[in-house]
Amino acid sequence: MKKYDIWISDLSHTAQGITNRTFPLGASFIYSYAKQELSSDFDFKLFKFPRDLSKALDKKIPTILAFSNYIWNFEIAYKFAYLAKLRNPNIITVFGGPNFPTLKEEKFEFLKERPAIDFYIELEGELGFLDLVNKLSENNFHSNFLKENNIKINNTCYIYEDEFISGPIERIKDINIIPSPYLTGAMDYFFDHPLVPLIETTRGCPFTCTFCADGLPEKSKVIRRDFERTKEELVYIAKRVKNNNELMISDLNFGMYKQDLETAKMVADIQKEYNYPSIIDTPAGKNMPERTIQVASTMSGWLMGGSIQSTDPDVLRAVKRSNISLEAYRKLMDFGNKRGRTYSEIILGLPEDTKEKHYESLKFSVDNYVNSVHSHQSMLLPGTEQASSISRKQFGLKTMFRTSPGNVGVYEILGEKYPIAEMEEIVVGSNSLSNKEYLECRLMDLIVKAFYNNSIFDEAYSMVRALKVSPFDCLVYIQKHPELYSKKVEQIFKSYIHETMEDLFETKKNANDFVLSSENINRYINGELGTNELTLHNGLLLNEFDDICEITFKSIEGTLREKGLLTNKIQEYMDDLKKFTLITKSDLFKTDKVKSLKLAYDFDQISKENYSVDPNKISKLSTPLEFIFFHDKDQQKYISNAVKMYSKHSSKGQLFNKSNMKQMYRNFNKSDNTPSIKQNS
Ligand code: SF4
Repeated sequence: MKKYDIWISDLSHTAQGITNRTFPLGASFIYSYAKQELSSDFDFKLFKFPRDLSKALDKKIPTILAFSNYIWNFEIAYKFAYLAKLRNPNIITVFGGPNFPTLKEEKFEFLKERPAIDFYIELEGELGFLDLVNKLSENNFHSNFLKENNIKINNTCYIYEDEFISGPIERIKDINIIPSPYLTGAMDYFFDHPLVPLIETTRGCPFTCTFCADGLPEKSKVIRRDFERTKEELVYIAKRVKNNNELMISDLNFGMYKQDLETAKMVADIQKEYNYPSIIDTPAGKNMPERTIQVASTMSGWLMGGSIQSTDPDVLRAVKRSNISLEAYRKLMDFGNKRGRTYSEIILGLPEDTKEKHYESLKFSVDNYVNSVHSHQSMLLPGTEQASSISRKQFGLKTMFRTSPGNVGVYEILGEKYPIAEMEEIVVGSNSLSNKEYLECRLMDLIVKAFYNNSIFDEAYSMVRALKVSPFDCLVYIQKHPELYSKKVEQIFKSYIHETMEDLFETKKNANDFVLSSENINRYINGELGTNELTLHNGLLLNEFDDICEITFKSIEGTLREKGLLTNKIQEYMDDLKKFTLITKSDLFKTDKVKSLKLAYDFDQISKENYSVDPNKISKLSTPLEFIFFHDKDQQKYISNAVKMYSKHSSKGQLFNKSNMKQMYRNFNKSDNTPSIKQNS
């Protein structure tokens, strides 16, 4: 008896390494549910790597070819669908995923421009895909019969003769009806690749942020998986994981619900037994800080972050986001800092954003002792309210197109090679943010990243804080005083501003024409073009550590002078502190050398006070003391692994971006016993 082939893909670009590093969870749910519900008349396959799908297509064309559609893989998926349809027009192509417009007329345009898509499944895919396959099966897989007769399919839309037809939207009430793709073996193949296991314990988000596809009202109800199954999945993964020590949880507000504590206990048990996972990546909930802290204390390896996006009430109102409260945020950051590191995320260019509001959001994070502030550009993602024509008009959003970093390549499909690039639409201005202000904000984002993040100058900023001054004022001073820059730093800033605007195009077509041309495609693939300019230039600045250290200390001096706070005692202390900073943080990759330095202050004691000292109240030692500076064995191993992992990258930007830099700074010891620091009364 003839079997029907159903192939489901969640593709990742691979030309510059695997860009989307997780197991293909979303597509595997569709695969597992359809396989469970449909009869044995069907043969299913699941793909993540373009090469695997290409090889399979060389052998046969399936009955149904389905793809997940995300901002990072739509073009590659569409190219496969288009070429498969050229080879066999009877193939049925199905797309689904969040990268799809929200307004009816925009959905129509999307499908009209992409005739190689037969059916689009919206929101949750499992029920829609099953209904579609059942209806196709009832009609002998004649997709045109369904279309001609305007047959409505759950969660599915399509166009026929310029008419847009969409079926009723149905949400899954109990996600436990979907079998675990891990426990059924659907994910086994992916354990052999350097991918991060991804699990889902809840689905849905109660918040309504307009820039996010999960903010749609249809996704607001939160549904939870059975604990027993999560536990079995964790054991299954822990027993098989080979290539990394990370676990991602796709929940959107982990730690906010009391049941998350139960999940955290399970993770802790797994960690004890299997020594995995040591890193847990999942976004924290937007409220309930006590519970989130309890959850984070139960298991280890969860890096605490606060995605505030903006602190300004007008911006938050415009994007319909209710942020974590100030008090809750502080509690979370205090807790996270005690455990090691914290981060905060901010988006530049949201509706109603201004230069002042962006700076306020950055300052808020810095003033709350966040270790690293990550600034992102506002993007218009097709499946979001913010990307709708109504929102664009309302807020006067000015946008440009660029390649999505890492998502460019040349791929062989059905015997031919094709250049393919994914594009992003980013906001570069609005009614409230001029292009000039946008560029100033981008420069400030780089200054924060290079001169503040990763606790790079923590010792100096702790002194600044002890003097009741915000370190953010020093960062603004850097931006306002270009005369402090060395030639190299000046060049890096210039190149950054140039690249911030250079790689942008007015239209998607212009971007495609340029990127996909034979002269340019390899420049994108080898990283000469299309890189993340913030990451790249941060790496370049950190390579000039002596220069940025000099600028930092000058900016602190200038800031304190402007505020009438600079004294001789502060200047003397800063002279030593600068030497101390240079020796602990420069030449980080030379890990075998032990260095020594004589200092006039007892930095051993000062470090015990977390460098939070007012130099006016401390005295120099009567005799300078010698300190030795070194990387211990664990640090040497950590740095050597990081260097190996990013050896193929042309700059150190990715290495600095992905590593825990705090683990790279030299330790120190004093070489004899000296009196502890003297405090003036
Ligand atoms: S809280 Fe997060 S997941 Fe939920 S809508 Fe907002 S951005 Fe999206």
